[in-house]
Amino acid sequence: MFHLIVTVCLAASSQSCAPVLLPEGDAGDLANCEAGAARIAEGWMEGRTDLRAAGAACTANADLPAAPLQEIAPGVHVQLGEPVQMEQSANGRIANLGLVIGETVVVIDAGVSRAEGQALYVALRRLTDRPVSHLVLTHLHPDHIFGAGVFAEAGAEIVVHAALPDALAVRGPIYLENVQQLYPPAEWIGTEVPVPDRLVAGTERLELGGRALILTAHPLAHSESDLTAHDTGADVLFAGDLVFRQLAPVVDGSLPGWLDWLAAPPRPQPRLIVPGHGPVAEGWDQAVAPQRHFLEALAASVRQQIAAAVPMSLAVEAVADALSPLSGDWNDFDATIRRNATAAYKELEWE
Ligand SMILES: [Zn+2]
Repeated sequence: MFHLIVTVCLAASSQSCAPVLLPEGDAGDLANCEAGAARIAEGWMEGRTDLRAAGAACTANADLPAAPLQEIAPGVHVQLGEPVQMEQSANGRIANLGLVIGETVVVIDAGVSRAEGQALYVALRRLTDRPVSHLVLTHLHPDHIFGAGVFAEAGAEIVVHAALPDALAVRGPIYLENVQQLYPPAEWIGTEVPVPDRLVAGTERLELGGRALILTAHPLAHSESDLTAHDTGADVLFAGDLVFRQLAPVVDGSLPGWLDWLAAPPRPQPRLIVPGHGPVAEGWDQAVAPQRHFLEALAASVRQQIAAAVPMSLAVEAVADALSPLSGDWNDFDATIRRNATAAYKELEWE
């Protein structure tokens, strides 16, 4: 397969350019790809006044950078992100992403940028030329959503938790700015805030022909928009950031809500669990035990400070101290423990 790659530069700076893959240009051979190239490139550039095209070319799939995927069950592929915080990463590719291949393909999370989404798309096209029917976003955080554009353009319906659009309307532009500040333009040119097509409020079944995914929207826990995807046939649960391994968990929803979620494992328990960050787990306990220990310790320590009427600024330092024995178990513990303690204090002081 050949892909149409447009060199796209920032209108404001001729030095800053990046290859943008336009899936509408996909073709089985070079001549067919080239035949549509100019029209498709022009169409995509229309309205994107902050960008400028500096040429288009058709490139064989094998010559493009592809995400490193591993097949963890038949037709289920994952890309493991580097389990560190975005600030510690050169390109923000820290989240785990997934593909489930039936008669159509479902992508689970798209990465931090157009570039990361494209690398996943190229890897997907090495495996199959079946249509990409859905992109499931497990929640609104930037490391999971900003690669969505390439999949939307490939025809995928973007499926999200019903609470995601309102939250994204407020935070999407801020997240995008953050990505633009952290990484060089070559990483983020062409990256846009995704526009969801379909909202999940309870449980929904996604049919992909020959297999199905059960999507479940969860109450406030890691975030306000946690959505899990369970491939019932292969028995793989994509947990999103409801499960952190190796990378210190970050509370952006509700600490008691998250502990409630951990206290009620899915029945029957899934065989494999793909966390939002860190290695794939075999079974529920391996997936969640260390995280539950961390979050329980956080809640207990914060409640102790609140009971002793310690003001927040002092309490946050005391909680960071109290939990420091756990710091060796978690990447970027120091970078997030105060944020976690602050969020927990604000929530738990109303109990
Ligand atoms: Zn997250």
